[in-house]
Amino acid sequence: MERTLVLVKPDGVRRQLVGEILSRFERRGFRIVGLKLVQPTREIAERHYAVHQGKAFYESLVSFITSGPVVAIALEGPQAIRLVRQMMGALKPEEAAPGTIRGDFTNDIQTNLVHGSDAPETAAAELAIWFGADELLA
Ligand code: GDP
Repeated sequence: MERTLVLVKPDGVRRQLVGEILSRFERRGFRIVGLKLVQPTREIAERHYAVHQGKAFYESLVSFITSGPVVAIALEGPQAIRLVRQMMGALKPEEAAPGTIRGDFTNDIQTNLVHGSDAPETAAAELAIWFGADELLA
């Protein structure tokens, strides 16, 4: 069993795609072990995107992720990290396959609807950024 963090980014909330996105993960069989609507602070955004600090798109990324509420979702299931990433689709719009969330609903590299942890270490770190221990099911 693995746990992973998914964020429905501010564009997904604005476009009213929260239900669509959550539903895909539920139908795939993942168990929701944490769920909340959060207005990210600059501090939480900087912690979440620390790995991108210094990159050309960093400021734009932080201002985008803090531009409105996000839905933070903790999912549990076998191979959750890898399977969720597959269901999200690739970062580059031309590589995001139809049938994936990005491939079905966006054509932009930044406003790409979802974040998903990319490895066990980042999943643990990101879950701790977005959820308190008392906000996750056992
Ligand atoms: P992900 O794991 O597929 O989300 O991709 P990354 O971890 O590499 O990038 C994090 C986020 O930064 C992406 O989801 C995009 O929102 C944004 N991003 C990444 N690369 C670029 C870029 O070249 N330009 C812009 N504007 N945003 C980017």
